[in-house]
Amino acid sequence: MTTKDNLTAVLYKKEDLRLEQRPIPVPKDDEVLLRMDSVGICGSDVHYLVHGRIAHFVVDKPMVIGHEASGIVDKVGKNVKSLKPGDRVAIEPGVPCRVCTFCKTGKYNLCDEMVFCATPPYDGNLTRYYTHPADFCFKLPDHVSMEEGALLEPLSVGVHACRQANVMIGDSVLILGSGPIGLVNILAAKSMGASTIIITDIVDSRLAKAKELGATHTINTKSITKVKEHIEKLLGDLPNKTIDCVGAEATIRLGIEATRAGGNLVVVGLAADEVKIPMAYALSREITILGVFRYCNDYPLALDIVASGKVNVKPLITHHYTLEETLEAFETARTGRGNAIKVMIHANADYKK
Ligand code: NAD
Ligand code: ZN
Repeated sequence: MTTKDNLTAVLYKKEDLRLEQRPIPVPKDDEVLLRMDSVGICGSDVHYLVHGRIAHFVVDKPMVIGHEASGIVDKVGKNVKSLKPGDRVAIEPGVPCRVCTFCKTGKYNLCDEMVFCATPPYDGNLTRYYTHPADFCFKLPDHVSMEEGALLEPLSVGVHACRQANVMIGDSVLILGSGPIGLVNILAAKSMGASTIIITDIVDSRLAKAKELGATHTINTKSITKVKEHIEKLLGDLPNKTIDCVGAEATIRLGIEATRAGGNLVVVGLAADEVKIPMAYALSREITILGVFRYCNDYPLALDIVASGKVNVKPLITHHYTLEETLEAFETARTGRGNAIKVMIHANADYKK
């Protein structure tokens, strides 16, 4: 039942996140109105709060925050045939133009006209009611929870990265960084058949979570100096696929050095704008270096590996908050207190802790 309550989390500018009432939007013909349910906090949401910008994306007018989300269909626009009120859906937060060459050739994540939730100037969905194109909503089977639906967003980044790396059965995969993105890469690599997954971080609690999610080996690179040699000793060889989920000069360099000749290095992390890398060494060993930008046609696969029970995303969630507690939730996410990994905000008014 629709009420007048549309409490919404709005980032006015750096360090100025407010809760305020907004009008309940009306779905366009191809859209659905969603009663929002679970919304995870992403590192980028925290970055906008703390810095007011990411690269050339600047918060220069109030912006609704949040993009890792799920909701329940409340109303449908007149052209919508795929969904009906009551359907529970995961929301793919980026909607491309659908007509440019990238869109037409199936690379819609590269579309210049992408409207992406909580990337300025576009509003996100940490709110009670939100409208979204129906074809970017994925119906969840009854046994998949709303929280799992929200986690399909980061999981899709992992699926896309592992597809870029061409992870396959029997692979040995090195993942650099054990934050939420490194962790979803463990899940994706595992589901694609990797037999060995070795992961690094500089924080032991993050490595413990990686082990829980299926990493076969963990390395704290703070306490080990010759990391490449250490990996070689552990595995008896170097990994043939590496996924950098930090993006610092040191990790990209390690990625080049610690990937087996002829292997693939995928860089997901965006920690540094410019880095110095041993290019000749990379080329002479035929290391293929690939980029990743979000995901593209990866939501269905992410949903499939969760729904089939191949992977369990639930251990990623460490904290739960109500929408009214949004500021506290962001404080937890930004400080990492209580070993926070994924902080989940429950946007539905009837959520009880
Ligand atoms: P995060 O900051 O929570 O995690 C990063 C992890 O790396 C932390 O656990 C940290 O302790 C660890 N780390 C830092 N320096 C390290 C080092 N030298 N060696 C090993 N580990 C180290 O971030 P996240 O949410 O997991 O995201 C990871 C990166 O991926 C970020 O840079 C983010 O911007 C990027 N990202 C990119 C895309 C994309 O489309 N390309 C999408 C989502 C996130
Ligand atoms: Zn396009």
